[in-house]
Amino acid sequence: MSDNKNDFRYAVGPSKVPWYAVGEFYNGMDVKSFVKFLLPDTADKPGYGEAFAKVCEALDGLAAVSGKASKLTMGDQVNAAEQAAKETFGSKYALLTSCWTMGMEIAYKLSGLKAGDEVIMPAITFIATMAYPLHIGAKVVFADVDPETLNLDPADVARKITPKTKMIVPVHLGGYPVDMDPIMDLAKKHGIYVMEDCAHGMGGKYKGKYLGTIGHFGGFSLHEVKNITSLGEGGILLTDLDDAGKQLSLARFLGLDATRQIKDWLYDIVSLRDRFGNIQIANNCSITELQALGLQLQMKRLDEIIAIRRKAAEYTNAVLAEEDGILVEKQDTAETFGTHHLYLLRIDPKKIGGDIHQLEAKLKEKGLTNITHFGPMYRFQVMKDLGYDENAIAATCPNTERMFYTSYTHLPIYNLSQDQIEYQAKAIVEAVRELKAGK
Ligand SMILES: *Cc1c(COP(=O)(O)O)cnc(C)c1O
Repeated sequence: MSDNKNDFRYAVGPSKVPWYAVGEFYNGMDVKSFVKFLLPDTADKPGYGEAFAKVCEALDGLAAVSGKASKLTMGDQVNAAEQAAKETFGSKYALLTSCWTMGMEIAYKLSGLKAGDEVIMPAITFIATMAYPLHIGAKVVFADVDPETLNLDPADVARKITPKTKMIVPVHLGGYPVDMDPIMDLAKKHGIYVMEDCAHGMGGKYKGKYLGTIGHFGGFSLHEVKNITSLGEGGILLTDLDDAGKQLSLARFLGLDATRQIKDWLYDIVSLRDRFGNIQIANNCSITELQALGLQLQMKRLDEIIAIRRKAAEYTNAVLAEEDGILVEKQDTAETFGTHHLYLLRIDPKKIGGDIHQLEAKLKEKGLTNITHFGPMYRFQVMKDLGYDENAIAATCPNTERMFYTSYTHLPIYNLSQDQIEYQAKAIVEAVRELKAGK
């Protein structure tokens, strides 16, 4: 059983008639369906039917002698995955959540963010980064990006700090580390908190420290499109702050506190205290045992995954560097170690005689996919509905405008064969040459 008393749920101890029997178990038939789901018949290879029949036979034998998994959420696997995260990243506290959006919600709450406060984040990120601030009526202030990495530009952050600024949220876009020192200096000078959105950055480092452990809070998305996943959805929140860290499991599950009880009942329900001592109310973003197990399995492969990605990015850089007008992706320096979640392709439109959209059309003709991460956030309808003036904001983010509309996109760099990686790089060079020749 979990030794974390705040996550006890209905595990009320050993007895002849256990309470946990009120939930339904999984059986051998169900497990066969799980196996088929995770290892489907889609490889176009013969023999799936026979191989699966053998598995079913073995599973019938196993089901006849096995017990049943009775703790499906918030148990030993979640504890073990959190322990692994603490050890791997060197963080004092770690919390698994149902997704990173919810991990960020907890960090925002414990940082005391409230309506009317300002949060600075890059103009290029995913809506998840600002979901909670928008929800509570805090104001999102968009920092312009560095044209080389598309990460937020610390100099523009400095320009946009006001007395209302309460947080800075750098996003390590595509897995390339943000220049964190100037951000942390600004935060210290102004007494504001930093939360790192490392949705793309698990395993990356800045000056020897893991991304997610430099700011006051940080964490990772485990959604299926990120570098590793916990069966499709999940998040990890990290912090070294004791006041916040000790409240993480209360913040994850509605403030239920089994270390204290009201009269004649199993637990008490408490509020959270934010950085300023104000009350915050917890939500529910629990994660299942199976997801936590899935995470531990993939976390063991993290270094290997990054190494494969790095090799593909280096190869792509080497091929693209030969062609004038293509700006290759910034590689690691002595201070940075990126995760290569996405390959950042940039061009100089003047040199190649066409912008990124013309290049994208050519890449599509050659059978390549590319997805620019992400559209400038101030352009979306939700922001207009909230009264954000897109053109006024755009005027303060010239690099975001220029880069997004003319100069960059992202390519896949993982789960590709060597042939596909080579084809992709050569097709890009070919497409650029065609544009130069006016074809
Ligand atoms: C995916 C992503 C998130 C959200 O993560 P979820 O786990 O899906 O909630 C946040 N920020 C960025 C930059 C992302 O790409």
